[in-house]
Amino acid sequence: MRWPDDSRADAHRSARDHPRREGQVPLTRLPRILAALAATPDAEAVVHWGSELVAVPAAPGELSLRLRAGTRLPLACRRCLAPVDVEVAFDRRFRLIPDVEEVADRDAQAEDHDVLWLDPALDLRELLEDELLLALPMMPVHDDCPSVEGAAPFPVGGSFQAQAGADSQAEETEPRQHPFADLAERLKRGH
Ligand SMILES: [Zn+2]
Repeated sequence: MRWPDDSRADAHRSARDHPRREGQVPLTRLPRILAALAATPDAEAVVHWGSELVAVPAAPGELSLRLRAGTRLPLACRRCLAPVDVEVAFDRRFRLIPDVEEVADRDAQAEDHDVLWLDPALDLRELLEDELLLALPMMPVHDDCPSVEGAAPFPVGGSFQAQAGADSQAEETEPRQHPFADLAERLKRGH
């Protein structure tokens, strides 16, 4: 996911010729994500991502980047500490600017995007990993913990502040399916 040739000219060329890209990164290529997991993910587990990179006509030399990604990660349940599969996703916008000295001021003024230096060596995979870490829910919990009865070593909700970027709350964990419900469904469909 590096720019084709580690140079700004190529970033601009990429924006012109291939503004939309998408793909998958194996979780094994994201060591900081792996370190945050409560269980070893499947060997073939991936993060799906998509990006849109376009020039900004009103600001020559600048690029606008939208980066989205999503995956399922086994995180430690805050109630029972056993792994709980959680959907984690983000959809972020960035402005990439060539003058490193303007970055801090511009970023402080920007409301709906982050301002980054158009670093000749900007690595999209590093950026994706940063954003995925920020999108991890602070309070992953099972809907129904497998082995604990009423024990709650951590308060759930209550005094903990709701996480910023609320799209990855624990409610998004899939309810565990009843195996026989699934079987009944398959029988209905005649498989
Ligand atoms: Zn649990």
